[in-house]
Amino acid sequence: VEETLVLVKPDGVTRSLTGEILRRIEAKGYSLVDIRMVRADRNLLAAHYAEHEGKPFYEPLVEFMMSGPVVAVRVAGDRVIEGFRSLAGTTDPTTAAPGTVRGDLGRDWGLAVQQNLVHGSDSPESAARELDLWFS
Ligand code: ATP
Repeated sequence: VEETLVLVKPDGVTRSLTGEILRRIEAKGYSLVDIRMVRADRNLLAAHYAEHEGKPFYEPLVEFMMSGPVVAVRVAGDRVIEGFRSLAGTTDPTTAAPGTVRGDLGRDWGLAVQQNLVHGSDSPESAARELDLWFS
């Protein structure tokens, strides 16, 4: 079966939404294979977000991701990469569809970075690379 990396970002942990987010993943039928709470450092985040380096939201994004603990989860299931991104909703919580994590629970704080509760790998290649980074 396929695996993906899900991160509950610091806003999700701080707002005590970890359980609600994991509940939705399990209710959909995916399996939680491994889980850890991580204080991410700059090195880890630079590797994780390498594709965004140089973008205007990059530095605020890294600062945000270092602002509190992150819950990293290895999730397994058929087509889970695409399926979790569908559960998560689109990047901007204001326009993310109702029924999704970001659409139901995300708030637009008007900040330099979208504090949109979760991350999910976007391809099999990203999933393999990111699972290696967060679970090595
Ligand atoms: P993720 O990869 O975290 O699941 P995503 O695929 O929806 O989210 P990406 O384009 O990969 O979004 O961007 C990574 C993260 O950077 C976003 O989740 C968000 O926190 C932040 N971000 C992306 N684009 C913007 C933007 N235009 N303005 C502010 N923050 C942004």
